[in-house]
Amino acid sequence: MRVECFGREQSDMNNGTSVKIYNAENNCFEYGVVRKEGDRYHADKSDTSDYSTKIYLTPGWIDLHTHINDGFGMFGINADEIGYKTGVCMVADAGTTGDFTIAGFRKYVEPTIKTNIKLFLCISPIGIIFNHEYNAMEYLSAENTVRTIEANRDIICGVKVRIASGVIRHEGLEPLRIASKAARIADLPLMVHIGGNPPYLSEIEPFMKKGDILTHCFNGSGDAWMEDGTPSTAMKRLIERGIILDVGHGGGSFSFDVCRKAVMQGLPKICISTDLHALSRHNFVHDMATTLSKMLAVSMPLEDIIHGITKLPAGILRLDNWCDLSTIRNGTFFRIDEVPSVYSDCCGKSVSFNRRIVPLGVVINGAFFDL
Ligand SMILES: [Zn+2]
Repeated sequence: MRVECFGREQSDMNNGTSVKIYNAENNCFEYGVVRKEGDRYHADKSDTSDYSTKIYLTPGWIDLHTHINDGFGMFGINADEIGYKTGVCMVADAGTTGDFTIAGFRKYVEPTIKTNIKLFLCISPIGIIFNHEYNAMEYLSAENTVRTIEANRDIICGVKVRIASGVIRHEGLEPLRIASKAARIADLPLMVHIGGNPPYLSEIEPFMKKGDILTHCFNGSGDAWMEDGTPSTAMKRLIERGIILDVGHGGGSFSFDVCRKAVMQGLPKICISTDLHALSRHNFVHDMATTLSKMLAVSMPLEDIIHGITKLPAGILRLDNWCDLSTIRNGTFFRIDEVPSVYSDCCGKSVSFNRRIVPLGVVINGAFFDL
């Protein structure tokens, strides 16, 4: 048993283990007890007798931006290795799978996964198997994408398009136009990957609507933020229109300076995702807990961090009752250790910080796993 104070939980949960429970409606923590009754786990907020607990219980963590088409292309990795084994109960694939490859994913990859999954379907039918997935534009089709969505509504949660200077070459905004059209017809969110210019945010903005997601929001290039951390004119308009910002850390999309300044200036609630893939996992990102610890290091309140991996992404994925812990279907237990740590971003900056979020266990689809 790796963590001492949680090491007694399996027997103790029969009698009740004291926890700080995240209340997603009020964005706060409340004291209570988690109890196992029969084969079900329940959070009981009426028992607040123990204020000394250091264990947190939240709805199951959701990672909105990952790449889980394991064994396929440059990016795919094993969903469980970045999922329930690291405290994450739901991972959404951000475009590793497309119209031509989803059948293989469903036949050969999906049955191997225990973690809950959703897919943002790539607008390129081959999926993101390498950079420049739009080389053969004649294969991109809003109609075919919508047809595939309709056949896979149980798993597809949106449409993904990468539109940044490092991805597009001769294609311009055409992949974005087609992806936006497909998302609008299917009535699903569009996830847009931003990075270097061009294209500029002012060109991207007309294709996005309320509830869409702008991922890699703290990348160290592009035109999203002013030097002082206030949003650029186009970014301000996107925020005002209800576009949701997503961290999407990844191997090249997280700047401590950009993030810290933006947080200090004040932000709407944002999603916090890892963009874990084969190239980022062992460089910079490691796991969700490390990304969350970096958010603590830039002074984001813990409640807002948890909101960004539970309530907010659950709404995007249309997961009704995900945050109801009265009976725990998916929940994550963690602790915050006081330990000197050094965290690195993707822009050559390292930050020393003395706190680290440590996952202790998950309930995933009703079953408890000690981590
Ligand atoms: Zn990604």
